Amino acid sequence: MNLYRSDGIVLRTRPLGEADKILTLLSRDRGKIEVVARGARRPRNRLAAAAQPFSYLRVLIFAGRSLDQLSQAEIIKSFGLIRENLVKMAYASFWSEFLDLLLPLEEENTGLFLFTLAGLTVLEKAEDPVLLSRAFELRALQYLGYLPELTACARCGRSLEETPGGFSPAGGGVLCSFCKDETEIKPLALSAAGLELMRRLLTADLRSVITWEVPAALQREVENALTAFLEYRSEKPIKSLGFLHSILSF
Ligand SMILES: [Zn+2]
Repeated sequence: MNLYRSDGIVLRTRPLGEADKILTLLSRDRGKIEVVARGARRPRNRLAAAAQPFSYLRVLIFAGRSLDQLSQAEIIKSFGLIRENLVKMAYASFWSEFLDLLLPLEEENTGLFLFTLAGLTVLEKAEDPVLLSRAFELRALQYLGYLPELTACARCGRSLEETPGGFSPAGGGVLCSFCKDETEIKPLALSAAGLELMRRLLTADLRSVITWEVPAALQREVENALTAFLEYRSEKPIKSLGFLHSILSF
């Protein structure tokens, strides 16, 4: 028998046949893995409670010839308060979706695992998760090795002393005022204050970010830049963003 243990966060669940689920887990020591939870779609099944989005589990997995199978799952933290709150659930779904899109299978990333756990823990307590999400997006990109350039011009490398020329997802980050007219697609607007906010979010403690007061226009600028960058890196639209936006505008 080829069994292994790990801890993992459920990023995604999808149905398999009548009774089973496939779980995508961000595991502590094996990166993103996919496992079958037999019978988890039946309410009285012993894996059903664990096989929920965002659950933090201790798992025992049987490595099969094709898909691995979940043999046992103990819930360490269910993050039930996130699933009970539509806004928090929408943010957590967005985080899970872009992590799933950007993570390759079975590439160890313990830093990202621990950071995601910290992000969900703060999200559960946050009253207004907007800036928390921006910090989560930036730092997750850093753990994934996709952090946009925020210190010098992504195109020419010139240092950015005055107002930045804009933000270019395809160009890899912030552009100087010379390069902003040289790209095929017009860069997104990014003010000096917007760039400064992104730099602060990158190093701040997640627990302090939820207490910051930042003008709405500045928040939107950073949101536009980061969501465009995430979609560019994901190479497809992030579906849960539509859900998030409809919840927030309601
Ligand atoms: Zn430049």
